[in-house]
Amino acid sequence: MMIDATHDPGLRSWVESANGHPDFPIQNLPLGVFIPQDRGPGRVGVAIGEYILDLAMAPLAEDVRAAAANPSLNALFALGEGPRKDMRVRLSSLLAEGSQHRAVLEPHLHLQEACTLLLPARIGDYTDFYVGIHHATNVGKVFRPDNPLLPNYKHVPIGYHGRASSVRVSGTPVRRPKGQLKSPESDTPRFAPCERLDYELEMGVWIGPGNSLGDAIPVGKADSHVAGFGLLNDWSARDIQAWEYQPLGPFLAKNFGSTVSPWVVTPEALEPFRVPQPARPDGDPAPLPYLLDEADQARGAFDLALEVLILTPAMREKGMGPHRLALSNARHMYWTVAQMVAHHTSNGCDLNPGDLLGSGTISAPDAGGFGSLLESTQGGKEPVSLPSGETRRFLQDGDEIIMRGRASRDGFAGIGFGDCRAVVLPAN
Ligand code: MN
Repeated sequence: MMIDATHDPGLRSWVESANGHPDFPIQNLPLGVFIPQDRGPGRVGVAIGEYILDLAMAPLAEDVRAAAANPSLNALFALGEGPRKDMRVRLSSLLAEGSQHRAVLEPHLHLQEACTLLLPARIGDYTDFYVGIHHATNVGKVFRPDNPLLPNYKHVPIGYHGRASSVRVSGTPVRRPKGQLKSPESDTPRFAPCERLDYELEMGVWIGPGNSLGDAIPVGKADSHVAGFGLLNDWSARDIQAWEYQPLGPFLAKNFGSTVSPWVVTPEALEPFRVPQPARPDGDPAPLPYLLDEADQARGAFDLALEVLILTPAMREKGMGPHRLALSNARHMYWTVAQMVAHHTSNGCDLNPGDLLGSGTISAPDAGGFGSLLESTQGGKEPVSLPSGETRRFLQDGDEIIMRGRASRDGFAGIGFGDCRAVVLPAN
């Protein structure tokens, strides 16, 4: 493991709120794009406690400073892992207790609450995978109780091309889509607002340097093309999906909006929370050689708790806090991130800095950890109960969905991803 002084749990920052901060202690240092006090263009920043440090104002290497002078992270992502690792070491020492740069940097700290966070990157392309095996099994069971997983699942990291234009940053409301709905009782569809609106709990992967068209990224080198991680809510209109998805897969049921968390947690910050990819059950096929790398199998998974919460208008009115709908973990991925990247480029398809990959819904095996309402309510059959006395089969207008990710391990400072949240607006 590549653990260094930046992971030292005893390391403290002169930014007091960072010490013991559940999400953004000095051991995390995630990157994002922000507008200070709602003024001016977006700036690249690093989260530290309750503050954001304006990266362009920090004494960093020339290439990093030049890349940070953009209103998006694409240029920083393109620099790759070498400069990013150097930047982390430098930032850690600049922000550590006793740093001689405190007086110079302090004026360039902005209270997060007073800032507007923007989409971290210009997303050229967005691809959504389906590597959450418990989700795939649960959804498959609805259609094929005896044989839920299709025969390709354990050979191919399944995915589809999503829509980059409608990805928005946390805090942006999502509009209930209209679309073609066809109930089983009816012979013909009607065009109406979605009645089965759902969320999907996913991990987002931000692509770094990427590859040229025609050149595959080998699985053993794939990690060096990952710039960082975030949370992704792949909002899904289940009724539109059920009618439209055959034979080409998801289309308008998925592309009306996707929400990402604003902070990009670097691979370095997640280093202490890497775990071996869980062994495949007896009888499962071994991955084909182009998807198999020993080092990736030994450390390619993440022990990262993933949570979904709901806050309804009635709960808000009663002053109640959000209610947890599910607690899952990024370990429940059948394929690693490196395998996703290697497979995506195996035919020569090019990935570019700022491209976004979704993991697919990550459900735990047990009912308390299902990453979508489709699973929690068994397709809307069994409503979930909320502490307000309400129930939900699917989402209603005004409901807010909040996703969180947090990594912790004995002997290390825990880190978090920050919220990925959005309120459902009524259909137009
Ligand atoms: Mn999805």
